[in-house]
Amino acid sequence: MKISILTLFPEMFESIFTQSIMKRAQKSGFVEIKIHNLRDWAIDKHKMVDDRPFGGGPGMVLKVDVLHAAILDLKEQNSDAKIILLTPQGEKYSQQRSEQFSQEKGLILIAGHYEGFDERIRDYVDQEISIGDYVLTGGEIPAMVIVDSVVRLLPGVLGDENSASTDSFSAGSDKLGCPQYTRPEEFDGKKVPDVLKSGDHAKIEKWREEQTKKRTQQRRPDLI
Ligand code: SAM
Repeated sequence: MKISILTLFPEMFESIFTQSIMKRAQKSGFVEIKIHNLRDWAIDKHKMVDDRPFGGGPGMVLKVDVLHAAILDLKEQNSDAKIILLTPQGEKYSQQRSEQFSQEKGLILIAGHYEGFDERIRDYVDQEISIGDYVLTGGEIPAMVIVDSVVRLLPGVLGDENSASTDSFSAGSDKLGCPQYTRPEEFDGKKVPDVLKSGDHAKIEKWREEQTKKRTQQRRPDLI
């Protein structure tokens, strides 16, 4: 998969994509992630990428001509990619959507900043995504959220193929994950359930299924 990210702050991505699973996924060729600075598409000599809103009001608005030029170029480099605009006004992101995105050949993620973008850019994107009903200063963190959640679903990225399928919200389950324990067997009077130490895989599986149901009923009845 090829992921292109358009941002005014490329440095923000440095730490997140150079650590742990994201780093390995790129090194092993499962994903190619490129960060592009919107300023590279600025048209005038002052490298202006934003301007004051028509009608007045606070903040600056990203310019449609600059964004459009960038999108055209990125689409040329990542031709099968889905173009996603990050905005609090978009569809609320979910595990289901990340599973769909992980099937795509490529993604182009557009991070806004300041007051957002010129409304007209909406006509040149495939989808608008929000990561939740709150407003962040920019689309960089939402872009990171999408990349992280999608890349871990690409076949081969996680060491154990099953580990994504047993996660909370994963396809075919739509439930929360089950409780997990590791050593020590007892901590502060709290013991690891005996069944998990029994070595009986059928029993363990059944216990996990029951726990998953119970936990989902208690915490997220809306999922059932
Ligand atoms: N004025 C905009 C509005 O009311 O919809 C909010 C602009 S916000 C301060 C700046 C940028 O951050 C947005 O253009 C978007 O790219 C990004 N952003 C902020 N919150 C977001 C969210 N919940 N999901 C996705 N992107 C978000």
